[in-house]
Amino acid sequence: MSSYRLTAPAPGWTTTTDVVVVGSGVAGLTVALNARKAGLRAMVVTKAMLDDGSTRWAQGGIAAALGPGDTPEQHLADTLVAGAGLCDEEAVRTLVTEGPDAVRHLIATGAAFDQDADGEILLTREGGHHRRRIAHAGGDATGAEISRALVEAVRSDPGVELIEHALVLDLLTDADGHAAGLTLHVMGEGQRDGVGAIRSRAVVLATGGMGQVFSATTNPAVSTGDGVALALRAGAEVTDLEFVQFHPTVLWLGPDAEGQQPLVSEAVRGEGAYLVDADGVRFMVGQHELAELAPRDIVAKAITRRMEQRGTEHMYLDGRHFGAAMWAERFPTILASCRSHGIDPVTELIPVAPAAHYASGGIRTDLSGRTTVPGLYACGEVACTGVHGANRLASNSLLEGLVFAERIAADLAARSRAGDLPERTVDVAGARAAHAVPLLAPESRADVQRLMSRGAGVLRSAASMAATAAGLAGLAADARTHATEEKPADPRVETWEATNLHLVATALVAAAALRAETRGCHWREDFPERDDAHWRRHVVTTLAADGTPVGTVEPQ
Ligand SMILES: Cc1cc2nc3c(=O)[nH]c(=O)nc-3n(C[C@H](O)[C@H](O)[C@H](O)COP(=O)(O)OP(=O)(O)OC[C@H]3O[C@@H](n4cnc5c(N)ncnc54)[C@H](O)[C@@H]3O)c2cc1C
Repeated sequence: MSSYRLTAPAPGWTTTTDVVVVGSGVAGLTVALNARKAGLRAMVVTKAMLDDGSTRWAQGGIAAALGPGDTPEQHLADTLVAGAGLCDEEAVRTLVTEGPDAVRHLIATGAAFDQDADGEILLTREGGHHRRRIAHAGGDATGAEISRALVEAVRSDPGVELIEHALVLDLLTDADGHAAGLTLHVMGEGQRDGVGAIRSRAVVLATGGMGQVFSATTNPAVSTGDGVALALRAGAEVTDLEFVQFHPTVLWLGPDAEGQQPLVSEAVRGEGAYLVDADGVRFMVGQHELAELAPRDIVAKAITRRMEQRGTEHMYLDGRHFGAAMWAERFPTILASCRSHGIDPVTELIPVAPAAHYASGGIRTDLSGRTTVPGLYACGEVACTGVHGANRLASNSLLEGLVFAERIAADLAARSRAGDLPERTVDVAGARAAHAVPLLAPESRADVQRLMSRGAGVLRSAASMAATAAGLAGLAADARTHATEEKPADPRVETWEATNLHLVATALVAAAALRAETRGCHWREDFPERDDAHWRRHVVTTLAADGTPVGTVEPQ
């Protein structure tokens, strides 16, 4: 049994399946569909509606060596460069060699990618790719199309049971420590209402990212890092958490804006928009030879520095010279999004600031998606397969979700054939012996986000992270005090999410404080250089006996 669990009522109902998949993005739905092909019963549990994860929001596309002259070797080389010395080369090789077929399988499932007049998939280029290898759908609506196709496929497969509006709480294990199901809270009516338990032969976490740990993020509201928090409580290893990719230009919606904020795509800068401060100074010129088109991390860092120097919360993007026709033809989505927030990019500067975009780290897995807890798998953004290293190459994440989902299903199928996936016996009542973590009040969510954005965002230092860690420890102490004074926060979705966010934030800050160098998307103001001699290794995080996350540097 896990030694820690979220405070929650005892399960009032139980159901059974072969494989329970948590999350309904590209990763979770692909696992479920492939597990079905292997003859396993699958149940998909998802926090909101089926298409409410990050997958639906993906704009750019999906990278795979599909074009003439491109090869997996070239895709591998580009991915390794982006990963800044920390990619697992075998994992990347798996991604790039199995990627093209995984995209073809997705097309066979029903996803319609943009094609030329001869029916060939149109491929574009993105930062860091030396070839045109990004397949896209509906122009900039790739994720929406992938989500549509996968949702349609699972909905028409009677062997996949879907439970929407259900927040998964904790893992259940059997006497051997093998994953044997999970506890969850269903926000519904009827038999499966409230806290219940699902017994299963294996559990797959596909819960997506953790962008909501920061005040500003491109991630949707469901991206609260629940999978990583659950895995830590279950005793799993989590790795590379410090590597958070920040998107440099997200529409700034005001000082009190929290949560998901609209992207102003790199393509706007690609077409010639400038970054300026309030005085109209183009501050990227002279910072990098590519000015506004420097790599994302450089631009995010320069914007943040300028904001700190000027004491402001945003910079501006100037695309007024495009004119009305070009805005309408080339960037209709962004134009509409800006206008819906009262900004007209045709005549006005667009206020922009960096925001958390992608978690390169996550629950550590092998090439079959197995975590360090037997029977527990992780897939998609929640996992750390080793393919991204210290920074993700653009458009590799949807591909990772597809490729490793297929591998997890193949592993489950092989285990099933070999008789290595038996029914598990789990004592649901006994699982309650695990230590119940006191819950944070719902308003702590915003406190966690503010602390993280202030001290553990784009620019980090020992001092900023010590302040963040102290603030986070204070929130945990308040929760403990309230619990002992018999005024604990009620167990409900908002308090469970706040508690998960807090655990993930604490783990992230501990890892980032440990890594005393600058590498990939981790920028330390006090250690501005990459230090291969000491730091070409991973930080692995687990929960200590007292329930706090502890990072250790993996030996070389
Ligand atoms: C704005 C934006 C643009 C992007 N553009 C691209 C791009 O062009 N190309 C690319 O490759 N990548 C892109 N990405 C990244 C990519 O979209 C994600 O990494 C990927 O979709 C993650 O897929 P996933 O299946 O792992 O998770 P998600 O799609 O995020 O799904 C996670 C699922 O888990 C569920 N869940 C979470 N917690 C719980 C819980 N406790 N209980 C039950 N269910 C839970 C959620 O509700 C959701 O269904 C972009 C991301 C964003 C936000």
